[in-house]
Amino acid sequence: MTIADVAFDVPLAHSFAYRVPDGWTLGPGQRVLAPLRGASRVGMIVTLREDGADAKLKALDRVVDGEPVLSPAHLDLVHWIAVQSLSSVGSTCAALLPPPPAKRAAPTPSRQITHAATRNASDADTSPGARPELLVGAGREKRALERIEAAPGTVLVIAADIETAARWAQRLARLGRVVRLDSGVPDAERVAAWDALRDGSERLAAGTRSALLAPLVAPATVVLVDEHEAAHKPPGPPRIHSRDVALERAARERLTLLLTSATPSVEAWRRAESGLVDMATPPRGPWPVVSVADTRGILRREPLTPPLARAIRETLAARRRVFLAVSRLTSSLACDECGTVVRCAQCAIALAYPRAAARLVCRLCATSQPLPDTCAVCHGRRLSPFGWGAERVEHAVRRRFPDARIARWDPDAARGARAEAQRAAAAAADVVIGTRGALRLFGPAALGLAAFVSPDQLLRAPDFRAGERALAFAWAAAERVAGDGVLVIQSQNPGHYAFEAVARQDLHVFYQPELKFRAELGYPPFRRLAVVTARAAHVDETRRLGEAVAAALRARRGLAVYPPSADRGGRAQRVVAKGDADLPNLLDEALREFTTPRAASRGIIDVEVDPVEWQF
Ligand SMILES: [Zn+2]
Ligand SMILES: [Zn+2]
Repeated sequence: MTIADVAFDVPLAHSFAYRVPDGWTLGPGQRVLAPLRGASRVGMIVTLREDGADAKLKALDRVVDGEPVLSPAHLDLVHWIAVQSLSSVGSTCAALLPPPPAKRAAPTPSRQITHAATRNASDADTSPGARPELLVGAGREKRALERIEAAPGTVLVIAADIETAARWAQRLARLGRVVRLDSGVPDAERVAAWDALRDGSERLAAGTRSALLAPLVAPATVVLVDEHEAAHKPPGPPRIHSRDVALERAARERLTLLLTSATPSVEAWRRAESGLVDMATPPRGPWPVVSVADTRGILRREPLTPPLARAIRETLAARRRVFLAVSRLTSSLACDECGTVVRCAQCAIALAYPRAAARLVCRLCATSQPLPDTCAVCHGRRLSPFGWGAERVEHAVRRRFPDARIARWDPDAARGARAEAQRAAAAAADVVIGTRGALRLFGPAALGLAAFVSPDQLLRAPDFRAGERALAFAWAAAERVAGDGVLVIQSQNPGHYAFEAVARQDLHVFYQPELKFRAELGYPPFRRLAVVTARAAHVDETRRLGEAVAAALRARRGLAVYPPSADRGGRAQRVVAKGDADLPNLLDEALREFTTPRAASRGIIDVEVDPVEWQF
């Protein structure tokens, strides 16, 4: 009898065995409905095998896909993703495949399945594939488009979000018909797009993360835009950055892979420096005059320094637009006099200042200390956790410029109709006060002035990626200011290399010291990090679970493990572990006792490898 091993979208590493009804022809990579815990659920066939009759095995309910949606090579890639991200194969499939087709599929597909891309990939071709290429600097998207235009075969563009995928689909439309693989189009359209790419009837596609495994007839080009975007690693399984999947897929299938980014992740930059990825010297383009205002020691009753107020007045008088960048309130502490941030002596990242506790805590090594009275550097007595929130900035601008149209826009804070109204107001405003997401309102060189009211909040983020994120935001703002416009940065850290890199339009100014910092303290890309979160029904049990997780990790050679720290008011415990390239395997082995099925009362753990955005 034929047995199908089926993986479901559940946090369990193993698959479930089912009897394949007589007369059905199926293949691995095909989705089926099968009974699981009293319901008929969609699962992925991972293997088919012949075995002796087993009366206890339940039969499959029905076939979902008329033919496999995943080629054997892509099923293998799914296994790799699951191992790297400590996700289940079923959850990985659920996240990276188009929704199941609404039409009921026949259980016996009549034609032989051909996977053009797979056939090509599995050919005994040992010639070295082209190295992936990182496109940075001015005109990178135009260069990517030119490469797409010249590409001989299929092209797939992967964006970090639906909005960007739609924009790229529009750009590609002048080259021919474009299909979409993301949830910005109806499900049936996504399913049809997948099929059309597989049989080669369409050759241009755009999508998001869920397009990463799309079947592509060779020769194929994949373009991953905005490589540095945190949105390429959204919450939920598989916890892996789309860039890492694209790199692995390109290497396996000898695809041409282009990555575009204004400010590449430090990981990508390091790959380019090591020669694993090609990168030309970033071309320079029109750039605003960048002025960095030193706000150390200035008693700031006003969010706008006189030079910034003057720049706003002049820009409005010239009937040009102004963007004032703000960030959400930070949860760390800095000296108002000299700008020194209170950091962990061991890890060098800003100590977190949870408002509930009157102590500073390191989110990495879990050490804590009481709030200091004075600054360790200048002995100043004003250590403050607050920067300027959007509301206070708006108030100050309205008072000074009563005739200007002013709007606030934080795309991540508003939802639904209210968000639409705010967005529309911001799109028509003279002065937009917004977070990083609000920059999407403006095209290249659309602004006369952009200003960072207090970017120190970005640098103070209790995260080793704080500098990288500050660079990304400031650089993106500079690109949106016209060449004869101005970018103002009001900072207590005016000499920070992230700001200097922006002022000089020179990325090396940032990455050189940043890589040194990362190497010295053993942060990515030199070592890998993972955060294990433990939760149980009660605070005491959660603490015990956190201790048990830390003990299990410590027992494993090759892992550096920090003590557990309470999170979410004690409802969770976090344990941070550092390791090398084999970190996922070590974690998987060490944590098996917590990840195999066990009583719910014993609590659950959640593992995030290579965290990009730490949730505080
Ligand atoms: Zn100080
Ligand atoms: Zn620390």
